[in-house]
Amino acid sequence: MTELAEAPTTGRDEKIARIPHWIGGTRVDGASGRSSPVYDPARGVQTGAVDLASRAEVDAVVANAAEAFESWRTTSLAKRAELFFAIRELFHARREDIARVLTAEHGKVLSDAMGEVARGLEVIEFACGIPTLVKGDFSEQASTGIDVYSIRQPLGVVAGITPFNFPAMVPMWMWAPAVACGNCFVLKPSEKDPSVSLLTAELLKEAGLPDGVFNVVQGDKEAVDALLEHPGVAAVSFVGSTPIARYIYETGTKHGKRVQALGGAKNHMIVLPDADVDMAADAAVSAGYGSAGERCMAVSVVVAVGDVADPLVEAIKQRLPNVKVGNGFEPESEMGPLVTREHRDKVASYLASGADQGATIVADGRETAPEGDGFFLGVSLLDNVTTAMDAYRDEIFGPVLSVVRAGTYDEAVGLVNDNPYGNGVALFTRDGGAARQFQFDVQAGMVGINVPIPVPVAYYSFGGWKASLFGDSHAYGPESIHFYTRGKVVTSRWPDPATSTVDLGFPQTR
Ligand code: NAD
Repeated sequence: MTELAEAPTTGRDEKIARIPHWIGGTRVDGASGRSSPVYDPARGVQTGAVDLASRAEVDAVVANAAEAFESWRTTSLAKRAELFFAIRELFHARREDIARVLTAEHGKVLSDAMGEVARGLEVIEFACGIPTLVKGDFSEQASTGIDVYSIRQPLGVVAGITPFNFPAMVPMWMWAPAVACGNCFVLKPSEKDPSVSLLTAELLKEAGLPDGVFNVVQGDKEAVDALLEHPGVAAVSFVGSTPIARYIYETGTKHGKRVQALGGAKNHMIVLPDADVDMAADAAVSAGYGSAGERCMAVSVVVAVGDVADPLVEAIKQRLPNVKVGNGFEPESEMGPLVTREHRDKVASYLASGADQGATIVADGRETAPEGDGFFLGVSLLDNVTTAMDAYRDEIFGPVLSVVRAGTYDEAVGLVNDNPYGNGVALFTRDGGAARQFQFDVQAGMVGINVPIPVPVAYYSFGGWKASLFGDSHAYGPESIHFYTRGKVVTSRWPDPATSTVDLGFPQTR
């Protein structure tokens, strides 16, 4: 942590931007005196200092959102839908600006950042349909003269706590359905790349969202704990690593909140002997190294079944020199740096431990990383990895792909099902029967058949199994509408005054 008063300089004449909160429709400087450095990972240079909120500042933002809720919950569905169409148009028009802010702090290449914004926009488009999404049921004449109907109402103030790796899209997964449902939203972004949250807030204001409906509180554990314990926060959505997801779920539910907490992953891509090897190798390279492997749906382990292993490893190896690693703003770059120096060093350590534990290093990204101070690691491939090795057991979250060799389909599926995570999984085969059996057998929330990164479209919901999700509710799609609303069932009678009588008996249904 850095005291704001002494925000460090880099010695390179770099301007350090202050990154504040967004409360009640405007930027608000933090008052805690604490901040955290933000870097341009491609140059290894500090570019910002993000304010870290105190408990009192979290109280203020929640109070502000609660006040805005009184009016926002009465806003008609027609007006909310109209507003979301305006939000969609504005975010679409400004998608490159959003992507640029994102690349500057995250490091992913600009084309990938544009892809992130595009996937987030799909969720905003889904939210445009809010009038149909919150429609209830109606049963006329459930009993004589009695009608029964169900409605769904917003929860109040809801919070989102998000990870560094999708600083625009993951918040969109949360705020778009939450706000469309009539809630007021408090976003606590990752302190590693917080600037997109402020651009998001400005665009929402420009599109016409009333002040106080969307707020940003920058911060670390202190702000998160304040949100989790705050009696005015009705629900918490979290996406991040598994240990923190578990903590968020346990702490939030203990304080009476509805919580969905999406955690980490170790995604396997199984390649059967009959698969198209070129197609599988292309998929492994794009899903393993895209966004420098910093995706919760990245393929981390290729499971080569039977005699496909040698040709598959060779085909992947041949493709690796073509992956251009560099600054995300350079048009020819296909893979950027890791988010921090510490994370890059940790990811690189799996190459050393893999070699020590008996894996074969086919490609060593420590040798191919671009020169300079950026947090780069080149693409790396480990073969002959076993389940006992650290490279297999841990979520590496970097451009290190492991190949595990399996003798049979059953052995391969067993690996996935024994793994503590269950986010995404993929199967490559030409056999429809095997694919169908696989979708039945496999214990993971999102399954790809010849598709390496099976992130569901916005009108389905996103979520894993096992240690990849705590809570019942998946993100976005229909489950998000359920998560951000509460059901109410109304039983109604409008008796004919002429036949009205007082009846103290228990209501009957016939
Ligand atoms: P992280 O868990 O370190 O941080 C996520 C959020 O939690 C941040 O806002 C951070 O400020 C906060 N946080 C961190 N430590 C905390 C603590 N001790 N107490 C309270 N709050 C704390 O995750 P990250 O490094 O930002 O993101 C990468 C992780 O997110 C990976 O594990 C990845 O798999 C996971 N992820 C999962 C999904 C999914 O959909 N399942 C999507 C994206 C990322």
